Amino acid sequence: MEDHCPLSPSGALATSPTFGGESSTVATKLSAAQLTGREESHLVELPSGHYLQLPAAEAFTALQADAREAGFELAIASGFRSFRRQLAIWNGKACGERRVHDDAGRDIAMDSLTPREQMHAILRYSALPGSSRHHWGTDLDIFDAAATAPDYQLQLSPSEVAEGGVFEPMHRWLDQRMAAGQSRGFFRPYNLDRGGVAPERWHLSYAPLSLFCERQLTAELLLSCWEECRATEAPLMLGDEVRANLSQILLNYVSAAPDWCPVQYSP
Ligand SMILES: [Zn+2]
Repeated sequence: MEDHCPLSPSGALATSPTFGGESSTVATKLSAAQLTGREESHLVELPSGHYLQLPAAEAFTALQADAREAGFELAIASGFRSFRRQLAIWNGKACGERRVHDDAGRDIAMDSLTPREQMHAILRYSALPGSSRHHWGTDLDIFDAAATAPDYQLQLSPSEVAEGGVFEPMHRWLDQRMAAGQSRGFFRPYNLDRGGVAPERWHLSYAPLSLFCERQLTAELLLSCWEECRATEAPLMLGDEVRANLSQILLNYVSAAPDWCPVQYSP
């Protein structure tokens, strides 16, 4: 339930300084609709056209300046993502319109799998709509725009960020900043493979806000999100399988490793 959480789901909004000259408000407490990507009033637009919460946007801009001094062009591949967009990705994979791949990058023949196997195959690389950290405006996928040609086809693949990969030098620099407590509040929730979500070194999370979003996300909140969406959105495919296994899914795929953020933040 949400009532043990320091952020109430009431969605209190406070007037805030503007980012990039735009007038906006910042949510000091996220509502259930904001937390599940169905509301965007807590976000500001960055010059790149991506959206984050204001404190995360400011911290990321500072981290970009740090990176530039070190010779990297820290760029965003994906920031905020809406519930509707995540639902389209999920349903596209569940119905076979989008490819689903295994850890070696090979296509999975979804029609040869049971619904449960299909669900796990999707969850390895895609979040359940309503549970994506990209809904919060605190999390983003990054790359080094200085390391590639303008026409480079960004993949966000393990080989790009591994030893010898095109983005590895910037990620090594980020590792050093994180270890020194100089990463402006950004850390990696999916750094290691715990058998759930595949490792994503390119995914950064602004811990001073996201640690509190994590605590708000519960099975009850997701179930009511999907219920409320029935009137306006496409049905969640594999929904029966998901509902029957929801607590296990939250444990294995939604919760990040308990120690992903080495710093304590208070609300
Ligand atoms: Zn991501």
